[in-house]
Amino acid sequence: MCRPPPPVRAWGCEVIRHLIIGNGPAGVVAAETLRRADPQAEITLIGDEAEPPYSRMAIPYLLSGKIGEPGTYLRKDAAHFEGLRIGLLCARVAALDSTRRTATLADGSVLAWDRVLIASGAHPVQPPIPGIDLPQVLSCWTLADARRIAAAVAPGSRVLQMGAGFIGCIILESLAARGPQLTVVEMGERMVPRMLDEVAGGMIRRWCEEKGVQVRTGRRVQAIDPLGKTLLVRLDDGETLEVDALINATGVKPNVDFLAGSGVAVDNGILVDDSMQTSVAGIYAAGDVAEAVEFGTGRRVVNAIQPDAVEQARVAALNMAGQQAALPGTFVFNVLDTMGLISASFGQWHGGPACETAQLLDDADYRYLRLVFDGERLIGANTIGHTEHIGVLRGLIQGRVRLGEWKARLLANPLLLSEAYLARGLAAA
Ligand SMILES: Cc1cc2nc3c(=O)[nH]c(=O)nc-3n(C[C@H](O)[C@H](O)[C@H](O)COP(=O)(O)OP(=O)(O)OC[C@H]3O[C@@H](n4cnc5c(N)ncnc54)[C@H](O)[C@@H]3O)c2cc1C
Repeated sequence: MCRPPPPVRAWGCEVIRHLIIGNGPAGVVAAETLRRADPQAEITLIGDEAEPPYSRMAIPYLLSGKIGEPGTYLRKDAAHFEGLRIGLLCARVAALDSTRRTATLADGSVLAWDRVLIASGAHPVQPPIPGIDLPQVLSCWTLADARRIAAAVAPGSRVLQMGAGFIGCIILESLAARGPQLTVVEMGERMVPRMLDEVAGGMIRRWCEEKGVQVRTGRRVQAIDPLGKTLLVRLDDGETLEVDALINATGVKPNVDFLAGSGVAVDNGILVDDSMQTSVAGIYAAGDVAEAVEFGTGRRVVNAIQPDAVEQARVAALNMAGQQAALPGTFVFNVLDTMGLISASFGQWHGGPACETAQLLDDADYRYLRLVFDGERLIGANTIGHTEHIGVLRGLIQGRVRLGEWKARLLANPLLLSEAYLARGLAAA
């Protein structure tokens, strides 16, 4: 890893020292945006994993053998960061002092900064289950985790995946591609409960079962006992399963430990305004660690997906460089590929008491469309299949398009989405 570059002293200009904590997609895009916006600035990008900056999104492709590790790297040219005079540092930030404007690293060394971006992402949660720290219990979050999974999940091995949320469903196909006997245990009443309604969650379950995955919903893992080299997993209804490995996919939490005493306000994530600045001037946050204002509702949400991380990072970096940029609101929009079945969730898909809904269901063909209206606007949707409508749905919801007479038409026939967008959305775009 290279050290930070020496400050460049330009005649009459102050050199701003930017420190970026976290070298995932948010950190990398922020560093590159800063360089473009300020050719003189000193930019240091710190990450605590001993890997070149990489994308977690690519891990399923690595596990299914479609790419090698270099395929996960965010920038393929080894000299990329040096060429941009971005210093890459492999170290862990242990503390941030917002008064002295310093960061203390785990080895005790201290870095001074003028502006800092916290892009430290999240880490997998460890539910308080006896046996959760046994070596055969694995997460699927880092490249190091992927190496462990590749060693443990082989044809014929027995694997239990705990959790069927967004990440749990994304990794199913790549786990299944390694040929194990796979069982999924989800404590919610359906799969992907925080993204999809009962109909869609049930459809995904049926799809997975048809592909040979055993699914238990509404059940919890209660204890994990070592049994020689294997594990005996006890569920809350008394069922026991002997497995070779357990994949923990029960969720993640933002990495904020090093902020203790810094004055940076944290709720579920780091609270930011629309410029991505935190409660402390000069300290910004972006990506999985940030809790930003949600588009359409004004609520604060951690929207832990890569496109959002990158957009937040771009906005943060422009403001750090002295320009003015604002995030129009983080738009909750997830597209999920579960073993080849594509589902999507938009905005306020769960609706509310005052909302009207339109629904189209084709169980046999695994197609489902549910639209949620508030007044004359579409505010959310769930889909399975219907990939042809994803762009239009996003446009209608994010564009807050007034549907007028098209609302009644959509209630009668949800398939008229493209026509509604052409009639009403383009005028608003
Ligand atoms: C298996 C998998 C599949 C996924 N698939 C998708 C997908 O299909 N679509 C999608 O949109 N999203 C997907 N995601 C989520 C996506 O990867 C994240 O939203 C994205 O990585 C967030 O980027 P980030 O830069 O905020 O955080 P991260 O990528 O987590 O990067 C943060 C970095 O900061 C480092 N760090 C943390 N604390 C410190 C510290 N104190 N000092 C120094 N460094 C620190 C971390 O180790 C990490 O390297 C997937 C995630 C996983 C695990």
